[in-house]
Amino acid sequence: MIKKFLDFFKRNKISNLGEFGLIENIKSWINEEEKFVDNIIGIGDDAAVISFDKDEKVLASTDTFVEGVHFTRDITSFFDLGWRVLAANASDIAAMGGTPKYVMISLACPVNTKIDDIRNFYFGFKKLADILDIKLIGGDTVKLDKKIVVSISILGNTLSQNYILRNSAENGNLVFATGTFGDSAFGLKELLKNKNIRNFFTERFNNPMPRVKEGKFLGRNNLATCMMDVSDGLAFTLNEIAYKSNLGILLYEDKIPYSKEMKNTKDKLSYALYGGEDFELIFCARKENLDKILSFGNISLIGEVKDDFLGVKILDNKNKLSILPRKGYRAF
Ligand code: ADP
Ligand code: MG
Repeated sequence: MIKKFLDFFKRNKISNLGEFGLIENIKSWINEEEKFVDNIIGIGDDAAVISFDKDEKVLASTDTFVEGVHFTRDITSFFDLGWRVLAANASDIAAMGGTPKYVMISLACPVNTKIDDIRNFYFGFKKLADILDIKLIGGDTVKLDKKIVVSISILGNTLSQNYILRNSAENGNLVFATGTFGDSAFGLKELLKNKNIRNFFTERFNNPMPRVKEGKFLGRNNLATCMMDVSDGLAFTLNEIAYKSNLGILLYEDKIPYSKEMKNTKDKLSYALYGGEDFELIFCARKENLDKILSFGNISLIGEVKDDFLGVKILDNKNKLSILPRKGYRAF
């Protein structure tokens, strides 16, 4: 049996496993299960949940941005890149109901990179860091042949009982979303057509605002049973919550929140469902918390949790029910 696995590893490439398959294998190679004994939540959520002290949980996450894969210089300025990498990272802490606090940045770049470009990268980073009260505490700088690669790690915290996982939805919960959907993917599409365009949508793509205030509000008040951020589209996120919680989610098409700019756009539904990088939060909560949650603002009710099916179904505007596939951006 073991030989069969070893042969598979020798003969195949990581693309045969896919991104999730590879992560599952990494977990098994380092015996991740053992760590759960110490009350640690490791691989599998938006951030790891670790503990140094009984009253507090520390949240940790990391993200890597590769030129030509995650960004291109012609549509994302260095300033915007600095903003975006922090936004993506802070969003993962917000998705745990925590407060993002400290960041480390590793920068790999060619020797002929302009100083001004790197300066602008840090200015963009700092602009958002100051808004969110996040401090840069270190990093690493190395040489790379042709491309720029930025890796960013973040630490945040919550009180011990206040962190929110993605696998803990409950039957009968309501499903909520912050902000609006599809703007960022639509902005990217506009930039790919004309890299000089600047409008509401391109701003949503290049300068997304992670929902830290909303995440903290839900965490501190214990209002959500389950939460995840939307980096790979609404369909992917809802499916991840549903399958990890072993339940069904019913999404109401007419309740998906859109910006006023997006409202009359053709195909807005597919931008919302399958477009990436909205960095909004999806969470589930008990019905009794509905009023308190909606009174915070910038939050909409979009669906409900059911136990009579597994996965996600969408009830469209003509009252037709269909399965929402687990589609979205994956690395490979
Ligand atoms: P997100 O999209 O929220 O940033 P990812 O899809 O990148 O999350 O990662 C899913 C989970 O897998 C996270 O818990 C992350 O820490 C873990 N993970 C991803 N890549 C690796 C790796 N190479 N080694 C260990 N854990 C990993
Ligand atoms: Mg995430």
